[in-house]
Amino acid sequence: MTTDRIVVVGAGITGASIAYHLAKRGAKVAIVDAVRPGAGATEKSFGWINATFSKRPQAYFELNQLGIAGWRRLETELGGELKVQWGGSVAWVAAGSEADALRESVRKHQEWGYATHLIDRDEMHGLLTNIAPGEFGAACYCEAEGAVDAMDAVKAMLRQVREAGAEVRYPHEITGLKLQRGRVTAIQAGESSLEAAVVVLACGVAIPPLAEMAEVSVPLKESEGVLVHSRPQPKLIDRVVLAPGIHCKQKLDGRVVVGGPVVAGLGTSVGPTAGTAPDPGEYARQILRDAARVLPGLRGVAVERVTVGRRVMPVDEYPIVGFAANCPNLYIAAMHSGVTLGPLIGQLAALEILDGARVSLLEPYRPSRFID
Ligand SMILES: Cc1cc2nc3c(=O)[nH]c(=O)nc-3n(C[C@H](O)[C@H](O)[C@H](O)COP(=O)(O)OP(=O)(O)OC[C@H]3O[C@@H](n4cnc5c(N)ncnc54)[C@H](O)[C@@H]3O)c2cc1C
Repeated sequence: MTTDRIVVVGAGITGASIAYHLAKRGAKVAIVDAVRPGAGATEKSFGWINATFSKRPQAYFELNQLGIAGWRRLETELGGELKVQWGGSVAWVAAGSEADALRESVRKHQEWGYATHLIDRDEMHGLLTNIAPGEFGAACYCEAEGAVDAMDAVKAMLRQVREAGAEVRYPHEITGLKLQRGRVTAIQAGESSLEAAVVVLACGVAIPPLAEMAEVSVPLKESEGVLVHSRPQPKLIDRVVLAPGIHCKQKLDGRVVVGGPVVAGLGTSVGPTAGTAPDPGEYARQILRDAARVLPGLRGVAVERVTVGRRVMPVDEYPIVGFAANCPNLYIAAMHSGVTLGPLIGQLAALEILDGARVSLLEPYRPSRFID
């Protein structure tokens, strides 16, 4: 091996965090992105930092809870460069089976030590003064959660990466891996190549074909998510809101971001589309109208843009992290909830790559689970 360089492929939240944690420890790092930092799922993410309630079993919940703590640490490390909105989340559902399920979820997460509790209608109004909840069955407040603009985090981490003397290269699409005796020796971008002692594949939905070149299987499934972004508004909410059929947050710049269901054929920008595809502009206005039923301050508010993102969704929905069993210097990092987990995974990956540690927390999520 003629180099000690670690090359990170993909500068979304996962790659940026891994590069940041490696560079912080003095490693020689280069990070490359096919388009620009954050251009994949990261810039289309809702950015909710959470460990509720789909985060099961307990080990996966605990990983996400540590993920929340990771953001506290990162925010401190980055000083004033990054601001996480630590307002927690408030969720409510209509009466009936959903209310029963929410109560049960809260009870289970409390057993696991999570700072969540049931709240009544008055308490909910105390936390969210501007909402009109409509039909109310049960509600809960998850105090420890937050929201972040993942792009702010990527930019702040990459600033530190550059300051540490590491290279951040884009647009630079990796088209191949050079392999020798079962190890990767370089990454290729067309005719050019960059030698590497370790290659980290953190390029989201583009991981499978690159990993396949080293005969490593990283099975992902399709999953899209739509977000509607309003123009900046005076302060309406300062927590993540999970209402029946809608979730929203208000960013530090005043923009309200609302998540809605995906509709086939939806474009990535607001404006009329041809043929039978739905009009994204009308779709987005409808999402904001739906949100205005629970947040009346959104009535008549203009849509600024719509984003449609492809989640990095492993087939079993759990992260795929670690060195590949049959290519020992190829490190894979593919995950949904990549925002929640970003700072933690960066820190743990640095331990595994630089110290040869095997972090037991990550054992359930190894790429080798997909070997037949
Ligand atoms: C609508 C939506 C809402 C979400 N909400 C949340 C949430 O509330 N909380 C949460 O925790 N998670 C959420 N997620 C998931 C989260 O955003 C992702 O898990 C996370 O952004 C994945 O980051 P990543 O860095 O692994 O991948 P990506 O952000 O996809 O980054 C991959 C990068 O690799 C680059 N790349 C691709 N191919 C190549 C190549 N050949 N060579 C070089 N570079 C390449 C791309 O340009 C891209 O920048 C959401 C996702 C979506 C879509």
